[in-house]
Amino acid sequence: MDETQATTGTEPTSPLEQAHQAKRARDLTGELTALTRGHEQLETASWAPTRIGDRVVLTVGASGGRPGHTETYEVVSSSDRDPIWEETELRLVSHTAATDADAGWYAGPPEFGGGDAIETAWMEAGPDRLAIIRGGVVVHQGRHAETGLPPRDVDAIAAASKYVKHGLSPMGGSFLACICPKEPCGGVSQERKGCPEHDREPCQRWHWAAECPAR
Ligand SMILES: [Zn+2]
Ligand SMILES: [Zn+2]
Repeated sequence: MDETQATTGTEPTSPLEQAHQAKRARDLTGELTALTRGHEQLETASWAPTRIGDRVVLTVGASGGRPGHTETYEVVSSSDRDPIWEETELRLVSHTAATDADAGWYAGPPEFGGGDAIETAWMEAGPDRLAIIRGGVVVHQGRHAETGLPPRDVDAIAAASKYVKHGLSPMGGSFLACICPKEPCGGVSQERKGCPEHDREPCQRWHWAAECPAR
């Protein structure tokens, strides 16, 4: 499967589903690529790793006559539950499913091998169905994900940012030879004259200062 297929369908496809599709097609390389790419997307996200207190909203689509619902989790310390754990895990905070049994699949224990608390949800449900909220700000918004928050007021966000945006390279952070002053997220808001990376500006991904994932 190529990337276009994966991203233009109307239904979200998680890294695990992509891997299963490749497996059914006896495409071992495609299977491994889908899983590797899923992990890379998680590890290189500007907000990664998740932190204690982050809210994670999973939007489950309708299927088999069952209506869709949302599940809201919080990233918590596993030691709250059992002192032997020093990792983080997801705790189910609320859901809109018909019964409690239909929600909470991704709640603790910690990921095997110390992975990010959202790793299983990211790989199985997929980034498209997840929203991640840090300090009231949406730092990840999947295309098929609800946040449970009021719609973004872009004018207010821009004003709160004093109209400053941070530019990140497509891999997060700044470009290799960049000599500009760096924001806490590793991005650049003011370019220094003579920076050899200036002509790269159009390649940057921008966010408002008030929505900086590293605030
Ligand atoms: Zn620069
Ligand atoms: Zn920033």
